[in-house]
Amino acid sequence: MSDSEYDVVVIGGGSTGTAVARDCAMRGLRTILLERDDIASASVGTCAGMISSGLKYRGEPEIMKMCSLEVVYLNRIARHIIMKNPILAPILDLSVAASDGEIIDAYSEHAEEREVPPMNFITPEATLEIEPMVSPDVIAGVYYEEFFIDPFRLCLLQALDARNYGANIRTYCEVIRFETLKNEVQGVVFYNRITGTTEIVSTKLVVNAAGPWAHKLARLSGADLDLRLNKGAHVIFDRRIVNVGITAKAIDGRWIYLFPHENTTLLGTTALDTWEDPDTLVASLDEIEYLLQSIETVIPSIREARIIRTMAGIRPLVPEWNVPEDKVTRGYQVIDHDNGMISFTGGKLVMCRHMAEAVTNLVCKKLGSKVKCTTHKKPLPGNEADVDIETLSKEYGVKMHALERMRARRGTEMKKILEMTKVNPEWKTTICTCEPIIEAEIRYSIREEFPQTLNDLRRRLRLGTGPCQGTFCTYKAAAILSEELNLEGDDFLVDILDFRAERWKGIRPSMRGEQLAQEELAQGMYSCVGNLDQSDVDYDLKPWEEGI
Ligand SMILES: Cc1cc2nc3c(=O)[nH]c(=O)nc-3n(C[C@H](O)[C@H](O)[C@H](O)COP(=O)(O)OP(=O)(O)OC[C@H]3O[C@@H](n4cnc5c(N)ncnc54)[C@H](O)[C@@H]3O)c2cc1C
Repeated sequence: MSDSEYDVVVIGGGSTGTAVARDCAMRGLRTILLERDDIASASVGTCAGMISSGLKYRGEPEIMKMCSLEVVYLNRIARHIIMKNPILAPILDLSVAASDGEIIDAYSEHAEEREVPPMNFITPEATLEIEPMVSPDVIAGVYYEEFFIDPFRLCLLQALDARNYGANIRTYCEVIRFETLKNEVQGVVFYNRITGTTEIVSTKLVVNAAGPWAHKLARLSGADLDLRLNKGAHVIFDRRIVNVGITAKAIDGRWIYLFPHENTTLLGTTALDTWEDPDTLVASLDEIEYLLQSIETVIPSIREARIIRTMAGIRPLVPEWNVPEDKVTRGYQVIDHDNGMISFTGGKLVMCRHMAEAVTNLVCKKLGSKVKCTTHKKPLPGNEADVDIETLSKEYGVKMHALERMRARRGTEMKKILEMTKVNPEWKTTICTCEPIIEAEIRYSIREEFPQTLNDLRRRLRLGTGPCQGTFCTYKAAAILSEELNLEGDDFLVDILDFRAERWKGIRPSMRGEQLAQEELAQGMYSCVGNLDQSDVDYDLKPWEEGI
């Protein structure tokens, strides 16, 4: 077979597509993944990263059971990028306490297999001791634990592992057309956004994992696909403002949450049927206010905390009609269009491995392969063993704080990065102080993880996602990127502008009071010091960037 002939073309580099590429490659299928942007650049990058016990879906016991088992598998294959968070639901109203009995039973049924304690009622005193920011009017609390994964790293590790098993992973390649013969897809035509050229590959099957764009891809192949698109937004605070995750009921009775997440805190999420364009999505003022007002009922001082940005994404739900959003199944469907393309609707991050197994089983059946799935058994890169950062800190002379964060991204792989500092000790310099990230890790990522832009580095390393939102690391990281990738002057500037525009997209909806003036100052640094408002840079502004 040549480099342009495949068994399977996977479209989409989100959680679903990367999981499918990994499974197909592990079963020995010739696989190529085509992603029009970067890995994890769409819906999955806007999610909370909760690999949930499925508590919210207790009306669907088979989904709860599946989620619980997937948590067990993910803890087996990717535990280095997983955190366990305690969660507290403060109760201020007796009627809520009564309805919580049912939730407690549902959660606790599978708690043991996930190695978490059963859900429990606790006293108001214990509630306030765990989280003093909770309203003094609290009458009880419900305590439980859930797992969270770094969604960006999960997708990247799935893609890298697929590549280790022989898959071809192509980012910045947008599928624009299908070649068909007697209504059967035989070839996939894509536009390479880096080189500006069009390429074609032939394939036996296509797996359409394009999330909220899946219906458009299906249509391109001549098939019909319905989705129920559902918008969700998050508000992000500059640090871990609560000790534990907090949940509360919103004005419409939906559960919302405030979760410590990496070095920040996430407040989310909304759930709105939407007809907005997923490419230009931003959180609305209404969504921000809905979330703040809801969490304020249990954390009265929430508005004193500093919001650094917002993010919004779209859930590609199963197209159920005549049901309110909250009642739409969070399960998924595999749809065989009988034209060489198989699509997904629905699903969640936590289910991505399960979804991949289901579709790869179908692909194997169609291609006559009997190889069994092993994605739940084999570790993802970096999860091979434990890492002792105290010993590494002494051996390489890098601060524990930086190593702790590096371990959360890399697991065992961090030793390769630290080895680089033996030859180049200056690469121990901290480039992003919020996270923190040292220079060696940035260089390692550029060499091994195929980033093309600063935004790609952000997704791989959390570069620029902390309180300063890239104000102090953008230039330094851009200089390293341009040296490693041999970028020309204009490419360098455009990439910085692109990175700032992406940050601005999330910052702008959350701007209030004093922060407006502070943001002016940050923008001024780029315009004046960096001369980034120069007019001779050839840069097409997207609609949401026009205010920069
Ligand atoms: C606000 C919010 C919070 C959420 N929280 C959670 C949570 O805590 N836990 C959980 O389990 N789930 C959560 N979810 C759901 C979860 O994020 C999604 O179900 C999941 O990420 C969907 O992944 P995906 O790979 O199917 O889609 P995406 O991540 O959208 O990936 C699809 C990819 O296809 C690519 N693509 C599109 N068109 C083309 C083309 N023509 N050519 C090439 N590539 C193309 C896109 O660029 C994109 O990268 C949340 C969702 C939202 C919106």
